[in-house]
Amino acid sequence: MNPSCDCAGFCRDCGLEHVLPAEPALPYAQELMVALELRGSIGLDACADPRLSLEYLFGPARGQMFGVLAYRDASGQAGVLKAFSGQYNGVWEVPGWVPPILDPAEFARTIALDEPRIKDLTRRMHGLGVDDPARLAMLAERRGLSRNLMDRIFGLYRLTNFHGQTKPLAEVFTGKAMPTGTAECCAPKLLHHAAVHGLIPLGLAEFYFGRENRSATRRHGQFFAPCAEKCRPILGFMLCGLEGRVDG
Ligand SMILES: [Zn+2]
Ligand SMILES: [Zn+2]
Repeated sequence: MNPSCDCAGFCRDCGLEHVLPAEPALPYAQELMVALELRGSIGLDACADPRLSLEYLFGPARGQMFGVLAYRDASGQAGVLKAFSGQYNGVWEVPGWVPPILDPAEFARTIALDEPRIKDLTRRMHGLGVDDPARLAMLAERRGLSRNLMDRIFGLYRLTNFHGQTKPLAEVFTGKAMPTGTAECCAPKLLHHAAVHGLIPLGLAEFYFGRENRSATRRHGQFFAPCAEKCRPILGFMLCGLEGRVDG
């Protein structure tokens, strides 16, 4: 196994990198791929929501990342958590999969006011000349609204680590500018869920599933490390507190 698929990030509190290996989770990831292909859906049963069909991953939207986390609970019982990145075909919560870190209802309330305003500005800007002062004013207004909305969305995320510390996403992120979708990938979803429920992760693996991405860097069934842009800058905090507990 390529060690670069491990889950890792620099922890500011400890001044070092925390690492969770991919290897212990790989057999469960393989099992999940087989199960998904058999079912043809990420739903648990045959009469699942049609939006959960795997066809979605092979259409214009292309594939997305999935992840599994192998764990041991407080009584020593082993288990596996699974996650899909972000929303699946517009669905945040699917039984059998870990939920998003944010509250979907709060998310809906947050975007309800500004998203239509942003779309309306985009619509009104169409047909105006590039240097039209009206268009430039709308462009500036849209930029401000988008930036503000993004900050408020980031404000919905509070991350918990294995010391039981909970911090707002903006305090955890070690990079410069937070990309859209930070904390929506599989690794943060899985680690947060494990930390909140007192589960000790043994391994975490992420794989790409579906039609290859536009730049053809991600192909069906391939394993990847958690992403460098959104995940690495938060994983140091999220993995903190695990050392010494994994083999205990
Ligand atoms: Zn990521
Ligand atoms: Zn640490």
